[in-house]
Amino acid sequence: MYNISNIRNDFPILSRQVYGKPLVYLDNGATTQKPRQVVEVMTDEYYSVNANVHRGVHFLSQQATELHEGSRETVRQFIHAHSTNEIVFTRGTTESINLLASSFCESQMQAGDEVIISTMEHHSNIVPWQLMAARRGIAIKVIPMDDRGELLFDEYCKLFTPRTRLVSVAHVSNVLGTVNPVERMIAFAHSQGVPVLVDGAQSIPHMPVDVQALDADFYVFSGHKVYGPTGVGVLYGKEEWLDRLPPYQGGGEMIQTVTFEKTTFNELPFKFEAGTPDYIGTTGLARALDYVTALGMEQIAAYEHELTTYATEQLKQIPGMRIFGEAEQKGSVISFLVGNIHHFDMGTLLDRLGIAVRTGHHCAQPLMQRLGIEGTVRASFGLYNTKEEIDALVAGILRVSRMF
Ligand code: PLP
Repeated sequence: MYNISNIRNDFPILSRQVYGKPLVYLDNGATTQKPRQVVEVMTDEYYSVNANVHRGVHFLSQQATELHEGSRETVRQFIHAHSTNEIVFTRGTTESINLLASSFCESQMQAGDEVIISTMEHHSNIVPWQLMAARRGIAIKVIPMDDRGELLFDEYCKLFTPRTRLVSVAHVSNVLGTVNPVERMIAFAHSQGVPVLVDGAQSIPHMPVDVQALDADFYVFSGHKVYGPTGVGVLYGKEEWLDRLPPYQGGGEMIQTVTFEKTTFNELPFKFEAGTPDYIGTTGLARALDYVTALGMEQIAAYEHELTTYATEQLKQIPGMRIFGEAEQKGSVISFLVGNIHHFDMGTLLDRLGIAVRTGHHCAQPLMQRLGIEGTVRASFGLYNTKEEIDALVAGILRVSRMF
């Protein structure tokens, strides 16, 4: 049952005040708040289980290992991967993309080969490819979009050449909220023999994701954006692909045997997990996934859709309001500017009213260039937000507008 007041009670931070005003937290695209269930399970593990995983014969180490590997199974089920061998734990989306860019380029790409990304990528799905372009001479091609913030599918198809090796695209834009048609994009890429990496940072908290139904070759996300802890994330990769890719980092855990002459690597997924993993963080992530699963991803999606529709209607009534991103399929993110008010001024003044929004380029400067602006104000909703909070946002914007 979707009982919003029970849900909000699970998130202690939501009842705090800032500047003497009740907190209205609308920066969920940047990070989400944590339910007490997540914090408690992590505290309990530190207090009663803590030991390094995979290496110990002793009781605690085995218990910690069971918890850690159990978390991998929870992630597998959550995204419906075929096997836990396909779930690599990382520090987050950014590390997952860097891992893949490095390992994929090293083994699958030559100078002159091409990767396709889109206009609306976060810097973390642009810069790793640019690093590879500088180091290995690969080329980057960019899918254009229309003024509503939808990718141009025909133009996407035209970007493919015999040198295309990978497509790497956001599932949901962190600025425009556009839900990209990744299933269709993957199907086309596969018809050209090209694998696809989906950046799921902004989709995983908001909708059910089935990597097998999507037929994604790689799918990445961060724990902290889905009500889990910071510092832990996931790289999903089809086993047949991960098997072919070389390790990203070297160290403990990822080896089978080491001599000074030669090292053989561990099996999947450990080949990609050098060093002590954040095993407490993975417990927290698994608990967060259990939490959203209990609410139901379909229910969360429906609730957030209602909130976003309501917010869009209300915001549009504000004089001078410009909303960026009006795709047919849109997630729970609204980017906007009001009249000539600078996004930073709007964000700062809203903050004084207790309303937390994000301002700036949102780590998507090329998208800002496409839109011809420097930045926006962004309100992004989570499973615990309410219509009353949206009313507070609208009242806050009107108040700020009157000051200018
Ligand atoms: N990709 C998208 C679409 C994002 O919105 C973000 C974070 O805002 C990232 C990647 C990077 O995520 P992280 O900083 O957790 O690695």
